[in-house]
Amino acid sequence: MSWGDDTTGLRAGWERTPEQEHSEAIFPTSSFTFRSAAEAAARFSGEESGNIYSRFTNPTVRAFENRLAAMEGGERAIATASGMSAILSLCMGLLRTGDHVICSLGVFGTTSSLFANQLSRFGVHTDFVSPTDVDAWAGAMRPETQMLFLETPSNPLTEVADIRALADLAHAHDARLVVDNCFCTSALQRPLDWGADIVSHSATKYLDGQGRCVGGALVGDADTLDRHIFPVLRTAGPTMSPFNAWVFLKGLETLNLRMRAHSEQAAALAEWLRSHPAVTRVFYSGLADHPQHALAARQQKAFGGIVSFEVAGGRAAAWSVIDHTRMLSITANLGDTRSTITHPATTTHGRVPADQREAMGIQEGLVRVSVGLEDLTDIQTDLDHGLSRIRQGG
Ligand SMILES: *Cc1c(COP(=O)(O)O)cnc(C)c1O
Repeated sequence: MSWGDDTTGLRAGWERTPEQEHSEAIFPTSSFTFRSAAEAAARFSGEESGNIYSRFTNPTVRAFENRLAAMEGGERAIATASGMSAILSLCMGLLRTGDHVICSLGVFGTTSSLFANQLSRFGVHTDFVSPTDVDAWAGAMRPETQMLFLETPSNPLTEVADIRALADLAHAHDARLVVDNCFCTSALQRPLDWGADIVSHSATKYLDGQGRCVGGALVGDADTLDRHIFPVLRTAGPTMSPFNAWVFLKGLETLNLRMRAHSEQAAALAEWLRSHPAVTRVFYSGLADHPQHALAARQQKAFGGIVSFEVAGGRAAAWSVIDHTRMLSITANLGDTRSTITHPATTTHGRVPADQREAMGIQEGLVRVSVGLEDLTDIQTDLDHGLSRIRQGG
């Protein structure tokens, strides 16, 4: 199929039923029937492909998987109940006791906890290194390293990792590179094109894009997904529901359009924040003086919708900016059409020990905005309620 990216998002991966519906059908059924005992046997043995039971085969879920795979440029996708269950399924499928993982510092807090607190109990050890320091990744490699895991751009500091360089490093050691593509999505960055082996998603964020459902997915080559990940989904059952798959399918239709709009809004907001007297620092890879601006410009189609900034006055000042907003939603979620605002040090990264948090660069004065699609002037006005008080020393 040689469709352009926008067409792929709208039409890939789906077959109309004999009813000739124009919008994808939802199949809310737990099981499927067989025409005969022989057909049932053939389906169960794998001789014949087809629907069996919605824990691991459902047409609506499959349509979402096929479309996302096409958008990410992968052979196959597997949908899961949440972003975390995508990462757990990945680890259960690819790792065993004694294996070693290298993960970028500053990944989503629960991901960090999954590696450090859960997988460690099964004898999988994880080291955390800076996403931008390729030498640190090379230095952390061990003979038993099986997986390199990263998020780029990072949350909330928008650090950008070099996917190609880390894929080359992983492959030189027969390990796999996994990229959590939650922040850019396929609309802005296709990690598989840069050599990554697997892409993981929290569909909860931009894939839905309107804050309705929790879900996740893995995208990669058919052999890895069919042989290693699918058996985990089938036996452990972290399954996406058909209804949620349908919502995510609708989200994929507007993903490219939304990500362009989010990026445009965020770029403009970052410039505005930078010129604001109460703001001491702005984190956005679209700014020309961002340390990895050139890499982001090469690796991504645009710079995404997340902007973080620091204000002088630490936690009190940051909380004041948040508490003086009247429109922005105070929530740690992101990737919504509505702008959201949060204080990373006491929410998303609140369980990271203070010294580690400081080392990661997440200061008490840091505020993160997931820039939505409201009028830009309304977002600016709302942030200015609190920011202008800081400038006046209030
Ligand atoms: C939210 C998030 C996750 C986890 O996804 P859930 O759908 O909440 O389970 C993983 N990675 C990143 C980058 C996220 O933002």
